[in-house]
Amino acid sequence: MFFTHDTESALQFVGALTDTVPSASDSGDDELRTIAQLDALLVTWKYSGRHDRDARELGEVRAARERLRALWLLDRDAAAAAVNDLLADAHALPRLVRHDDLDWHIHATALDEPLATRILVEAAMAFVDVIRSDQMERLRVCDADDCESLYVDLSKNGSRRFCTTRCGNRMAVRAYRARADAV
Ligand SMILES: [Zn+2]
Ligand SMILES: [Zn+2]
Repeated sequence: MFFTHDTESALQFVGALTDTVPSASDSGDDELRTIAQLDALLVTWKYSGRHDRDARELGEVRAARERLRALWLLDRDAAAAAVNDLLADAHALPRLVRHDDLDWHIHATALDEPLATRILVEAAMAFVDVIRSDQMERLRVCDADDCESLYVDLSKNGSRRFCTTRCGNRMAVRAYRARADAV
C-alpha cells in the first residue's frame, strides 16, 4: 500500500469526480449536470453525510470539481499553499472517526457540513499526505492525447501512463497504425 487507505480512496474519489468533465468522461459529455448524476456518483463511492439534492449543492460540487482539477495539476509548493488555503477556508479540524463499516480514519469537517465543503476538505487532507511524502508525481493526467482523465499511479515503479487499459490500448493501436503508415 502506497498511502493509507483513506488517502487512497479520497484521491480515487477526486479522480472519479474530476473525470466527469467532457474531456475525461467516458461519454464525452459533462457527466455532472444533474442531481441524479451526483446521486449516482455518491452511491458508487459510498459517500456518507449530508446530501441536500438541490441545485445549490450541485453548483457547489461542480465548482469543487474545477478547484480540485486545478489543484491536481499544481507543482508541490503551489499545491501546499492551495491546500493550506482550502483547510483554512473550511475551518478544518482533523479528528479520528469510525463509522459504518469503516475503521479509524480522518474527518476534518462535520458530517452535516455542505457536501462540497466536505469533498474539498477530504481531498485537501489526502493532499497533505501526498505532499508530505513527496509523491505529487503519483497524481497523473492520462497520457492519451484525447483524454484528460486524472488518476493516481499506485503501481510499484510509478510507470503507469494511462488512466485505463482502454486508453492504453487505443494509443497502442494508434501508434501501430502510425508505424504502418510510415512504412
Ligand atoms: Zn468517513
Ligand atoms: Zn485516459
